[in-house]
Amino acid sequence: MDKINFNAGPSVLPSEIFPEMAEALVNYKDTGLSLLEISHRSSTFMDIIEEAQQLVRSLLRLPDHFEILFLTGGSTTQFALVPYNLLPVDGVAGYLDTGTWSTKAINSAKKFGEVDVCGSSESDQYRFIPKDYKVDPEWSYLYLTSNNTIYGTQLHQLPETNGIPLVVDMCSDIFSKPIKDIDRYGLIHASAQKNLGPSGTTLVLVNKNLLGKTGRDIPAVFDYLAHIKKKSVLNTPAVYAIYGCLLTLRWIKKRGLNRIAKENEKKASLLYTELDNNPLFVPKVRNAEDRSTMNATFDLTKAGHEKTFDVFCENHGIVGIKGHRSVGGFRASMYNAMPVETIEGFVKLMQDFAWRFG
Ligand code: PMP
Repeated sequence: MDKINFNAGPSVLPSEIFPEMAEALVNYKDTGLSLLEISHRSSTFMDIIEEAQQLVRSLLRLPDHFEILFLTGGSTTQFALVPYNLLPVDGVAGYLDTGTWSTKAINSAKKFGEVDVCGSSESDQYRFIPKDYKVDPEWSYLYLTSNNTIYGTQLHQLPETNGIPLVVDMCSDIFSKPIKDIDRYGLIHASAQKNLGPSGTTLVLVNKNLLGKTGRDIPAVFDYLAHIKKKSVLNTPAVYAIYGCLLTLRWIKKRGLNRIAKENEKKASLLYTELDNNPLFVPKVRNAEDRSTMNATFDLTKAGHEKTFDVFCENHGIVGIKGHRSVGGFRASMYNAMPVETIEGFVKLMQDFAWRFG
């Protein structure tokens, strides 16, 4: 693709997957059918989803008690399914409020039970990750958003929870690095449209030992146990999107998660160094330890320069650089498929911008 794609999601994908995606659209592996036309109950599709699940398991080193689901409804649906399935009717869950995505999860969980919001960075417009909070041993789980796509904050260290399972929205940083201490997690959810593949499917990794204990009678379509029993085909899954995930997972495996993590750190370091040093730019997240390697949010130091930078970016083939409408400014999303060289080129453009307009 000839654009520099800074979209936050759906976002840049490895260009290597497109020829196979295109071929599958016309004639999947010489079946004489488009992948859009096959049954989700056929062995053709079951081979696809099973290989995708195996890749997820091996890449993230998931122990056997983790089940791997590809569901529909996005991470937004998980804001409801998590408490529905994990919060007992008389239970309490801890939630850390790091902005929009966790706020939505909190509001949704409140419909199911008691929610203890243990910390919030709202008073500073969510520019940092709260760390000084107490974990209550009575909580059924602690809910965290590992990377806040809108504010550009990322949790780089897990809090101590003394055995309370972590439930984590990893929508925007899953597969950006290996997951450490997997045994501390009860559930991880991530809609696909960042590092995992095309939009339309949502990965849910759940410790099955935590399920079936809420005392609720859950309709099958909202029940993780029912989805596990039916191997993610309780109802029609997003066949083509899951195929896109499979191709992306193969690409991740070929590159290796350690190499991907190193490249992501390199890109983030290049960009934040420029943001810290270039007098025309200022990063929104001041605490370096809370900055996202996936989404760097920033402002221009002179408000009058916003439009100029916008046009400058457009003229250089850059798309999706505007900040989320709720926070303004700019945001450069640097998911796995964004090459280091693209960020090196973007840094040069920022220097050129400062030279011309500073
Ligand atoms: N959580 C995070 C961190 C997100 O960035 C998003 C959206 N990109 C969501 C949840 C919601 O995902 P979806 O729109 O797929 O429901």
